[in-house]
Amino acid sequence: MTSQNPASRSTRSAAIVGAGQTGVTAALGLLDAGFEVTLYSDRDQPALRNDVPATGTALEFGVAQQAELALGLDTYTARAPRHTGLSVRIADPERNELIAFDGDFDGYVGVAVDTRLKADERLTAFRERGGRFVVEQVTPETLDGIAAAHDLTLVATGRGGLSDLFAVGTTRTVYDAPQRSLLTVTVTGLDHDPGVFAHRSPAGGGHSGFSIFADQGEGWWGPYLHKDAGPSWAFLGWARPGSDWEKRFGAADSAASAHRIVTELYRDYIDWDLPEVLATRVIEDDPHSWLKGAVRPVVREGVGRTAGGHPVASLGDTSVAYDPIAGQGAQSGLIQAQRLVAAAAVHDGAFDENWIAARYAEFLAARSDAAAKVTRLFLSDPEFADIGGQFFAAAAVEPRFASALVGLLHHPQPFLGVDSVEAAGAYIEKVTGVSAADVLGRFQPAGRFERSAFAPALTRA
Ligand SMILES: Cc1cc2nc3c(=O)[nH]c(=O)nc-3n(C[C@H](O)[C@H](O)[C@H](O)COP(=O)(O)OP(=O)(O)OC[C@H]3O[C@@H](n4cnc5c(N)ncnc54)[C@H](O)[C@@H]3O)c2cc1C
Repeated sequence: MTSQNPASRSTRSAAIVGAGQTGVTAALGLLDAGFEVTLYSDRDQPALRNDVPATGTALEFGVAQQAELALGLDTYTARAPRHTGLSVRIADPERNELIAFDGDFDGYVGVAVDTRLKADERLTAFRERGGRFVVEQVTPETLDGIAAAHDLTLVATGRGGLSDLFAVGTTRTVYDAPQRSLLTVTVTGLDHDPGVFAHRSPAGGGHSGFSIFADQGEGWWGPYLHKDAGPSWAFLGWARPGSDWEKRFGAADSAASAHRIVTELYRDYIDWDLPEVLATRVIEDDPHSWLKGAVRPVVREGVGRTAGGHPVASLGDTSVAYDPIAGQGAQSGLIQAQRLVAAAAVHDGAFDENWIAARYAEFLAARSDAAAKVTRLFLSDPEFADIGGQFFAAAAVEPRFASALVGLLHHPQPFLGVDSVEAAGAYIEKVTGVSAADVLGRFQPAGRFERSAFAPALTRA
C-alpha cells in the first residue's frame, strides 16, 4: 500500500484541514506515501460519525473507485448494494409522459456509501497507522501557523468552512444562485432484488430510478449503504425555484417529515413508483438521516494564501461545489485527492504556489470541467436544452445511447467537446453507428409509463 520509501520522505510534512471523506482520504493517502500528516477537524471522531448528516448521497462510479483503489483504499463495492444502471422517466409540464429509458452501466458499477461511514473508517486507519488527529476549529489566523509549520497544507473544509480563502473563479462559475432546492432522506424496508422497481427495469432494485418533471424538478431513488442500517435506499429530490415541490421540501424538519413529504410527492406526482415508496421506513436510530438545502455550483481557485503569505491548496467541495444532480461532487473530490497524493509523492521540490496551481489546472482539465458541464446538462441548463432534448430522446430509442448517456455520470469527458446540436448528433452517431436523424426519427412519446405492481409481502416470501 505504501508507494514511497518512507525513509526518503520522512522529513516532509502535510496538514489537512477538514475530516470529511475527501480530507480523510487525502490524509491517509499522504500518510501511506511517507508524509508526516496532521489532520485537523472541528469535530471529534464520534461526532463526525453520529452528530451530523451525511454531506450527500455520494454515489460514485468506476473512475472514482479506481482513484480510491490507486490509494489502496476500500471502494465498498463488495459491501454496498450495487447500482448497475439508471432508469429515467421524463414528463412535461402538462404531465404528459414523454420519455422512458433504462441505461445499463457498461463495465462498472455505482455505490452510494454514507460519507460518515467512509470518513470514520478511513480516520480509524489513519490514526492506527500513526497519523496525527487534532480536534480544533481552524481559523484563517491559525491556518497561517499551520501552513508555516508544514510543507504542504490542504484545505478540505467543505462548501463553507475556510472556502473564502479561495477566490471564486469568474469564468468557470456560471450560476449566481443555486438552481434547485434539495431534499434527501435515507430509508429501510425495501430490498434490492429484481422484484423491486421491476416496472422500470429487468434489473429491478439494481438500477436507481430518476424521474424528471420539466416544471417541478427531479426525484431519484437509489441503493445506499447507511452507516448503521447497512444496505438501504436513499431518496434525493431537486425542486425548481418557485415550484410546488420547493414549498413541500421547505417544510421538512425531521427524518419523519422528510419521509412523509417524499411519500406524498410520489402519491401526487410520481405514482408509477408509489408502491415501493410506501414500503420504505425511516431509520429511527439516526435522527440525521435526512438533509435539505441547496448548492450553488461554484468553482474556486486552487491556491489560497494565508495572512503570512503561505500558499495552501483547496480540496474537495472547497475547490468545486456541484449541484448533486449528476452525482459529481464526491467523485470529483476523491479523484482530486488521489491525483494530489500521487503528484506529491514523486515531487522533490517545494509545494509552492506554482506547484499547487499546476496540479489544480490538471485536475480541472482531467475531471472537473467535464463534471461541471455534465451537471449543467442534467440541470436542463437552457444553454444545453437542444442538446439535452436530442440526447434523452436518442436514449429512449437506442439502448446503446442510453448506456452512453448514463455513462457520463461515471466518465463525463465525452461531453466536454459537445457544444452544438451538430456535435450532439455526431456523438449519437459515434455511439450508435446510426445517423442521429435516423435515431431521432424513430422517437415516439412514451404515452403512459408502466406502473409498479410491487407487493412487498410477495417479494419477501
Ligand atoms: C444532497 C446531496 C447529494 C449528493 N450526492 C452526490 C452523489 O450522488 N455523488 C457525488 O459524487 N457527490 C454527491 N454530493 C456531493 C458530495 O456529498 C460532496 O461533494 C462530498 O461529500 C464533499 O466532501 P468533502 O470532504 O469535500 O466536504 P465535507 O463533507 O463538507 O467535509 C468538510 C469537513 O470539514 C470540517 N470543517 C469545516 N470547517 C472547518 C474548520 N474551520 N476547521 C476544521 N474542520 C472544519 C467539516 O465539519 C467537515 O467535517 C451530494 C451533495 C449533496 C448536498
